[in-house]
Amino acid sequence: MKALLVIDMLNDFILPEGKLYVGEGGLALIPAISAAIRRFRSEKRPVIYVCDRHKQEDAEFQMFPPHCLEGTAGAEVVAELAPQAGDTVIRKRRYSAFFGTELDLTLREEGISELVLTGVCTNICVLYTAADARNLGYAVTVPKDCVASFDPSAHLFALGQMKDVLGVRVEEGP
Ligand code: ZN
Repeated sequence: MKALLVIDMLNDFILPEGKLYVGEGGLALIPAISAAIRRFRSEKRPVIYVCDRHKQEDAEFQMFPPHCLEGTAGAEVVAELAPQAGDTVIRKRRYSAFFGTELDLTLREEGISELVLTGVCTNICVLYTAADARNLGYAVTVPKDCVASFDPSAHLFALGQMKDVLGVRVEEGP
């Protein structure tokens, strides 16, 4: 079974007024990710949202300005991609969607062995999630038009690392 992961498509990252706006590249992902979500739902395949959700004094704020604080609108998925009944939402506090979360257990319980990763940022949460997924033995696909970063050169570097080092299938389309 193949699942779609929608990573950090949250108001604080995607909206220009967000606390840690990743730039136009994030907003530009919405149509392609929306299409992927519709396709997975219509095929009755799992759609799993992975969402940054921080506490007030989170250690990550030594690296980045405070963002996605629990209980704030900034931590919610952008309205255009809002989760529906039947979708799974996993909260995370670190870059990898697997670190300190129920993601691996959830995937195993549902018999999922293949992941399609979408969202932001290519070189941070997508890359470290891809690394853990590959270490755990999942097949991983990353559609190029469904990931973005505030840093274009880091975006390209991360796609190359995922393809050449992690064995991720990097696809032109979703
Ligand atoms: Zn964060």
